[in-house]
Amino acid sequence: KQAQRAYNFNAGPSALPFAVLEKAQQELVNFQGTGMSVMELSHRSATYEQVHNEAIASLKELMNIPEDYHVLFLQGGASTQFATIPMNFLAQGKKAGYIMTGSWSEKAHKEAKMLGETYVVASTKETNYNRIPALDELKYEDNTAYVHLTSNNTIFGTEWFTFPDTGDLPLIADMSSDILSHPIDVSKFAMIYAGAQKNLGPSGVTVVILRPDMLERANANVPTMFRYDTHVKNNSLYNTPPTFGIYMLSLVLEWAKEQGGLEALAKMNKEKAALIYDVIDQSEGFYRGHAEKDSRSLMNITFRLASEELEKKFLAEAKEAGFVGLNGHRSVGGCRASIYNAVPYESCKVLSEFMKDFMKKNG
Ligand code: PLP
Repeated sequence: KQAQRAYNFNAGPSALPFAVLEKAQQELVNFQGTGMSVMELSHRSATYEQVHNEAIASLKELMNIPEDYHVLFLQGGASTQFATIPMNFLAQGKKAGYIMTGSWSEKAHKEAKMLGETYVVASTKETNYNRIPALDELKYEDNTAYVHLTSNNTIFGTEWFTFPDTGDLPLIADMSSDILSHPIDVSKFAMIYAGAQKNLGPSGVTVVILRPDMLERANANVPTMFRYDTHVKNNSLYNTPPTFGIYMLSLVLEWAKEQGGLEALAKMNKEKAALIYDVIDQSEGFYRGHAEKDSRSLMNITFRLASEELEKKFLAEAKEAGFVGLNGHRSVGGCRASIYNAVPYESCKVLSEFMKDFMKKNG
């Protein structure tokens, strides 16, 4: 059955671990002898609550999240967080600082601008977001409510590996496309959020990790569903949560633990990425990586070929050979291989061989 699986390099929603899909299939119509699918369980039932709480506990364990931090499962995607962050944390008379490293940072910034005062801490737009700014490029202003960054730039293929120390300024990160891919020091962050559909599970769940003091800083008069304290007080069960997505997330987290946790996943991710970056680097310009070397993402590998015509040919032949999702994002063009946690080493190996072969024939 595994042999029928596609070489899936989609940017999101993306590949899920095969073992997780199989487990979900086995349990689909009768979860733990209930005679019901997880989808059919009441979110107030003890059986569902156990799934929910285990998912929270697993995430805390895997990411080594400090005990007092809150873990929330929300809806609306990371895009809704772009608005709820300033709604809650951008107080009057304060400014929010945004570090601009790509389209998702721009979208997050756009929402904050609608709700209050903002400024750009640093930006690499000038070079089409091909790098992460150096730490000494970051300039914070007085009266900053929080600093926001995007840890992995899905579209441009760059990633932060050393995060800024913002001292007393709350640091908020959109980790949608690299959460769970390598260990990070969660205690550096006031808030981390991520749409689930890359490394965590299916779309429909948004994970929020929140330092408790942020609740005290939050604005009053925010509508109930958009307030973080509503979800904290109710353990993300204020209204009906995306129960099936949270169940899938819990299976993915179990799988991540079985792989050896984030250290082991990081090692695999480095090896997988090296297979493809090595082909790019040894191709003498046949393949041209978009990102500067020390900013290269281990999750999304962006590259171009000499001409659009050659890119079209590459993508057409790749499709023919069974590869899915290698087209670059429309705003950058070219090609992109997204190699999240669940993309097997073998798929990356087959892609690197395909790239070498294509170069031989067309170089
Ligand atoms: N942030 C990043 C880094 C992303 O890659 C994405 C994309 O899918 C989003 C935000 C948007 O997430 P969502 O579709 O969950 O709103």
